[in-house]
Amino acid sequence: MSVLELQRDVLYGPVNSRRLGRSLGINLLPASRKICTFDCIYCQYGSAEAVSGAGKQTGFPPVDTVLVKVHEAIKTLQTPPDYLTFSGNGEPTLHPEFPQIVAGVIRLRDRACPGTRVAVLSNSSRIHHPEIKKALEQLDDPIMKLDAGDPVTLGQISRPAPGVTFEKIVEGLASLPRLIIQSMIVSGEIQNLEGEPREAWLTTLARLSPEEVQIYTAERPVAESGVERVPKEALESLACRASERTGIPVRAY
Ligand code: SF4
Repeated sequence: MSVLELQRDVLYGPVNSRRLGRSLGINLLPASRKICTFDCIYCQYGSAEAVSGAGKQTGFPPVDTVLVKVHEAIKTLQTPPDYLTFSGNGEPTLHPEFPQIVAGVIRLRDRACPGTRVAVLSNSSRIHHPEIKKALEQLDDPIMKLDAGDPVTLGQISRPAPGVTFEKIVEGLASLPRLIIQSMIVSGEIQNLEGEPREAWLTTLARLSPEEVQIYTAERPVAESGVERVPKEALESLACRASERTGIPVRAY
């Protein structure tokens, strides 16, 4: 098994991302520790027990620390990044003050680099909380994970914490006025590339009607054995099929 080193600070990058261009990552989770409501079979940070909420977890960076670091980074960079992206060691919306941080970062962006977009890479598990939904609505690009179109496949691929259900996720996604979906496609013993899992995913996409769907596959060996990355041609063919079927732009990365 090969895993990426966890982020050790609030900021990382800017990294060159195929989807986001030059992106400055903002990690709202504790340093060097993964905290997530999912335990995806392909997680680049390896496996860790999924948690239902922040609960008794400690070590989240304070709001002021995040804002000072973002402000300093923007001032120091010679050219503003294309994106400020909430991502990092787990699910960003688990930060107990996620809404305040989103509001603060957007204010900083408006003042210092109005051409930069603000995005989140979220696993969609917490949209049903009204304050999280409101914060997600403020972002230029809420990029929300949907790897499964049915509860069984969600359970197999994402292994969510107790209380995180497929129904709540889809209801939450459907309530966002603007939405970009990102889906990790895997094959092997557990898969969403073919058959019923694929059909259910296509049906759910059509129901949600996002602005765009980004599909990709694991770039490196994944956390669990038996999970395989999908060949480029198969990914591209799925993107074509999904676009034709739903009328939504679907891009393979
Ligand atoms: S949602 Fe992201 S951070 Fe959480 S387990 Fe899945 S891949 Fe890892």
